Amino acid sequence: MYDLIVRSGTIVDGTGARSSVGDIGVKDGRIAHVGGRIDVDAVEVIDATGRLVTPGFVDIHTHYDGQVTWDPLLEPSTLHGVTTLVMGNCGVGFAPVRPGSEAWLIQLMEGVEDIPGSALSEGMKWGWESFAEYLDVLDRTSLSIDVGTQVPHGAVRGYVMGDRGARNEVATADDIAAMRDIVRDAIEAGALGFSTSRTLAHRAKDGLPVPGTFADEAELFGIGDALRDAGAGIFELVPLGAVGEDLDAPMREVDLMSRLAAHTALPVTL
Ligand SMILES: [Zn+2]
Repeated sequence: MYDLIVRSGTIVDGTGARSSVGDIGVKDGRIAHVGGRIDVDAVEVIDATGRLVTPGFVDIHTHYDGQVTWDPLLEPSTLHGVTTLVMGNCGVGFAPVRPGSEAWLIQLMEGVEDIPGSALSEGMKWGWESFAEYLDVLDRTSLSIDVGTQVPHGAVRGYVMGDRGARNEVATADDIAAMRDIVRDAIEAGALGFSTSRTLAHRAKDGLPVPGTFADEAELFGIGDALRDAGAGIFELVPLGAVGEDLDAPMREVDLMSRLAAHTALPVTL
């Protein structure tokens, strides 16, 4: 006798094994049987004929960084079956934040990702400055699914360089060292990785490309040192040429990403 049987679904178990039609039995809150035909009864039976039955889905590219502070259900992703989502992509997000620059980060997110600034301004509950403090706030929030975070270049650059960072001026050696320390602290506090944007398609509401769009190799590899030193973290970037704005760029970007991955000894995603 099971508490629940999900019958005749197409089971995709997430291991990479081929899918197969079968039953799943749940007992005492745990999955007790996967696959084949279950001949005993259950308190509740769900007919999953013609449906996929999976452990869940990981959405590796989202922008819930603000919404996560007011919507524990994280809709609509949860309605689509997402069970883990990753945010902090494209170099935009809300930590670290200098007190007083919240509105600047909101217009950055609004411009790049088309998330209404009014929704963010009215909905977001702040209460952090560092990335670690942001993670603490998320920890105290009872979320319906798991979330992973990346520390965004735009926020880090604005935090360290202020207006110079926002205007995409070249980072000095001191700027790079400060960004590296912030990113390393974030990774050690639990960030999944670091993200940056290099495409001209990503612009803040004020029209400026995301801080970090024109970052030189000294800056990118200097920040890469943070991941290498921490021994963890993915370096995520949106390459130049992503929307066809520079047809020669992709090959140069692949070369850059290859060298970056070798430098950090960690994955680069795009
Ligand atoms: Zn994005």
